[in-house]
Amino acid sequence: MACSPSHETRQQSSPALAVPDELPDSVYKRELRFGVPQLRFDRALEQRFLASHLQRVQLPVRVWFSLGVALALVFTIAQTLRGGIWSFNSWLEFCGIIPCALALAWLAWHSDYERVFLPWTRVLVPLKGALVAVFVTRLVGNGHDEELAALTVYVIAAFFFSGLLYRAAVVAVGAILVAYAVATMGFGLSSAVALKGFLVLLVTASMGALVYYNVERSYRKSFLESALIAELGARDALTGLMNRRSLDEHLLRVWQQAQRDRRTISVMMVDIDHFKSYNDAYGHQAGDTALRSVAQLLEGFARRPLDIAARYGGDEFVVVIYDMLPDHVRGTAEGLRRALEAAPPADPQNRQSSVTISIGVGIVEPTLGRTPLGALQFADEALYEAKQRGRNCMVLKGTDEYRTLETGSFKSRPRPHG
Ligand code: GH3
Ligand code: MG
Repeated sequence: MACSPSHETRQQSSPALAVPDELPDSVYKRELRFGVPQLRFDRALEQRFLASHLQRVQLPVRVWFSLGVALALVFTIAQTLRGGIWSFNSWLEFCGIIPCALALAWLAWHSDYERVFLPWTRVLVPLKGALVAVFVTRLVGNGHDEELAALTVYVIAAFFFSGLLYRAAVVAVGAILVAYAVATMGFGLSSAVALKGFLVLLVTASMGALVYYNVERSYRKSFLESALIAELGARDALTGLMNRRSLDEHLLRVWQQAQRDRRTISVMMVDIDHFKSYNDAYGHQAGDTALRSVAQLLEGFARRPLDIAARYGGDEFVVVIYDMLPDHVRGTAEGLRRALEAAPPADPQNRQSSVTISIGVGIVEPTLGRTPLGALQFADEALYEAKQRGRNCMVLKGTDEYRTLETGSFKSRPRPHG
């Protein structure tokens, strides 16, 4: 394979590589910038937030909804003693409130909690709230004004103890207010008593809504902040690509998957040619800019979900490509090398100020006894050969060669000088 085409053959008309000013923008950063006033993320992020929300509230809702069953039973006993088993409120307890309380507790302890909890509590919390509102209004109508306190407690609980998110909690509290208003008319409460009760509930609901809005907003912000911190820890600060640790983790994951699915993994090791001299000639900052340009280009070549581009260290990068035919891998690697070769130089007056890369590709079949580290070393050997051939070229080692290698024989060697 011919390597190191002369600088004169480079296309001067190719578009310049855009270089990002800072770390590539992350979805967490973007959402944080807006401050999440809508209390909603885009679809994929919302799913992840819901998963973390459900995890956070799992224990509290188990406690509160179990307590809810106990309280419903206590109220039922008190009601039965007070009004007899055939009273309206006893029936409301037996046929509505207790079943709702039991269903909520069951959801909180459900084996498929993550899937069933939110959809059903969105229905059951308002339903139980409305039934409790009717129950309490009946008591108020019978002269037990003090029972209204139970309903205000339920309003607060709908916000802070039900596990519902803000919008669903507001709907639940709305259902309580509507049920109370309708019941006051149905049971013929005096307008003074009905209005007083309604105002108490409205003030409690408004305060609860205001506080809970801020609580959920700060939950969402701290969710974004911790995700951003984790993301920053997984990325290389200069280029924004995944760092070495994330590469190792990712490679292990795809390795296991490829082993299960009997697929290949192509490991592409990319190294900038004569980068020391480039730094010496144009300065470290120009070197950083070149590293970012290469990184950006590589990122564009690893767009599928199981592919990854990472900075391996210094001027070395790794692209992992999952299950791609050797010819496509070869075309991809060659396209990458050519794209960089064709990019205009950093200094338009000086063609030498552009960088070229050498690429070593190892296509491996993850099998027992082989390791991801071996795959990296296999690609490194291919890169070594590319450097030996004169740089600015690509060497691909396929699965036939990989099969004949003995485990542990992949030793990286010092690069040839030239
Ligand atoms: P070769 O063609 O054999 O790869 O020659 P080389 O000069 O590129 O040799 P090598 O890959 O060993 O050199 C790596 C150089 O990369 C050394 C160092 O000056 C430079 N480098 C490493 N990290 C950074 C960085 O973060 N910024 C800049 N500007 N340069 C870096
Ligand atoms: Mg180099």
